[in-house]
Amino acid sequence: MTNALPEANPLLAIWATPFETPPFGDIETGHFKPAFAAALAMHRAEIATIAGNAEAPSFDNTIAAIERSGKLLSRVSMVFGQLTSAATSDELQAVERDVTVDLARHWNEFYLNPALFERIDRLFAARDTLGLDPEALRVLERYHLDFVRAGAKLTADERARFGDIVERLATLGTQFGQNVLADEQETVFALTEAEVAGLPDFARAAAAETARDRKLNAPYAVTPSRSSVEPVLHFATDRAVREKVWRAFVKRGANGNKNDNSKLIEEIVRLRAEQAKLLGYESYAAYKLADSMAGTPKAARGLLEEVWAGGRTRAEADREALAELARTEGQSAPLEAWDWRYFAEKLRLARHDFDENALKPYLQLDKVVEAGFYVAGRLFGLSFSQREDIAGYHPDVKVWEVKREGQIIGLFYCDFFARPGKRSGAWMTAFREQAKLDGEQLPLIVNTCNFNKPPAGQPALLSLDEGRTVFHEMGHGLHGLLSDVTYPRIAGTSVVRDFVELPSQIYEHWLEQPQVLERFTHYETGAPIPAEMLERMHAARTANSGFETVEFVSSAILDMDYHSQPMAGSVAEFEAEVLASIEMPREIALRHASTHFLHLFSGDGYAAGYYSYLWSEVLDADGFRAFEEKGDPFDPETAKRLYEFIYSAGGKRDFAEAYRLYRGRDPEVGPLLENRGLVGAAAA
Ligand SMILES: [Zn+2]
Repeated sequence: MTNALPEANPLLAIWATPFETPPFGDIETGHFKPAFAAALAMHRAEIATIAGNAEAPSFDNTIAAIERSGKLLSRVSMVFGQLTSAATSDELQAVERDVTVDLARHWNEFYLNPALFERIDRLFAARDTLGLDPEALRVLERYHLDFVRAGAKLTADERARFGDIVERLATLGTQFGQNVLADEQETVFALTEAEVAGLPDFARAAAAETARDRKLNAPYAVTPSRSSVEPVLHFATDRAVREKVWRAFVKRGANGNKNDNSKLIEEIVRLRAEQAKLLGYESYAAYKLADSMAGTPKAARGLLEEVWAGGRTRAEADREALAELARTEGQSAPLEAWDWRYFAEKLRLARHDFDENALKPYLQLDKVVEAGFYVAGRLFGLSFSQREDIAGYHPDVKVWEVKREGQIIGLFYCDFFARPGKRSGAWMTAFREQAKLDGEQLPLIVNTCNFNKPPAGQPALLSLDEGRTVFHEMGHGLHGLLSDVTYPRIAGTSVVRDFVELPSQIYEHWLEQPQVLERFTHYETGAPIPAEMLERMHAARTANSGFETVEFVSSAILDMDYHSQPMAGSVAEFEAEVLASIEMPREIALRHASTHFLHLFSGDGYAAGYYSYLWSEVLDADGFRAFEEKGDPFDPETAKRLYEFIYSAGGKRDFAEAYRLYRGRDPEVGPLLENRGLVGAAAA
């Protein structure tokens, strides 16, 4: 690779392609470093001009100017982001390591630029007198909040302390994660043939592999990691084996050895509280939730408590059924935590006997995608036509042109199959986001999945879960494609964390509507899905939801409490108090206990944010209920509001208000409770 001259570097050239799409055929790994160097320099110069402007700050010469800046940087970053995730190589990873550092430094300089912040702060103070339209006002408020949350208001001394805290937290977070891993790796249980009785083949094979890896003189072995433990708890008939594995699992990070995380948690929680105080918030949870739809820790905890009540009632009813089953199977000891999954699995099979894989022959990838397009057509008037002339970054990438009422609104790229160089999971991203600050900018939206690629000539068949993934990502994709805002800062999916999963999760509901399911036929026989299979599918949905709700919600409450009040006593005492206060059933453990709660302590991504999974579920369940109430999953009036206030609105307005405008009221928890089978639970 050579350091190509800017003129020869396609990342820096004008894209003379249809819709100015990235010319993937011309882009090489060696183009990225010089392109980033040029793009960063250009953005730095643009920001210096804005910050150094001699004129008094105006919305146009400051906020709109920031919005107009950095175009080259975002173009290069977006292409780079998807290639490093979905088509990477050793060479590209080496570039990524350097570029990540450059970008972090660049954005840190941007947010801590005092002259730039002073202009934004002055505008913000005068915001009511500027005559701004609601969208522009919202963008100004968002920028001000972004800067304040990044530390722009701190004095020099505070900034130094803030920086020390950030660094110390990074170290503690890394240590926390490594300790959990060490406890998982240093503990190993050798098992005999008799001790693995009941385990399915895949789990047996994995246990045999572990024994070989550890060079043990035993045919099988398991460790206290989740993937190793779950099959044992579900299937091992030997109760003593289940008990010892369970005990090691829940004690990860709390064994009083060098891997013990208790002291680390005390320090992390204390430092986060200090960080929040510096930024002017009363607690870390208040800081995190100030930029969320929930808004306050109280609102988030309120939801958790409401779901908790239903979950616990259902779990208690299930407990009786499980204890009864255990007695009939000859267990004289009372039901314990290491019995729950085992008997729940037996109960599920006895009640429902649904195997998700039985649906596979009916769920061909192409048909599921077409069904997703069909739903988008019915709801939003969209049509999709494939554009084979537009280049993807890999031969598997397909591109569709998307029209709404005859107008092209964007392009939709899909990259469905797993392959080397692609990270696992499924995600939505973009090569360009919608905006119309300087004329209509069409979004280029990307969906990526990791389905197994079938042999040539054979259809790709999906499980129900994978079918849901297609609809989920398409929901995110539509959020990007339908975006209709002026400013890039608030386009498409640029919304808060507890709102961003609404468009994706609500879209999953359409997959299981009769009008959609009837479109799926057996790939060989052409027969529709048997009604009896659909019945079992619906019935199996909530088989163990009491347990699932209790283990999730208790962890989410623990998270919220750690980050909203000063911690008295030790980690063990604090955790015990929280669990006592919610009357945690003794036969169910936290999904994540404190000392191995990686979401909270190995980074800050989900600290005071574990609730947001459930928050989004409230929105999608209640949001879809609006269609059910009309008796029509494609009710035009409801679809119109869904388009106007959710899918096209980006971050135009406060998210609670957006939801109210769609639904006519605040979200209610009822539909989630019903979908989880938590209403009338005692009837189980
Ligand atoms: Zn998602």
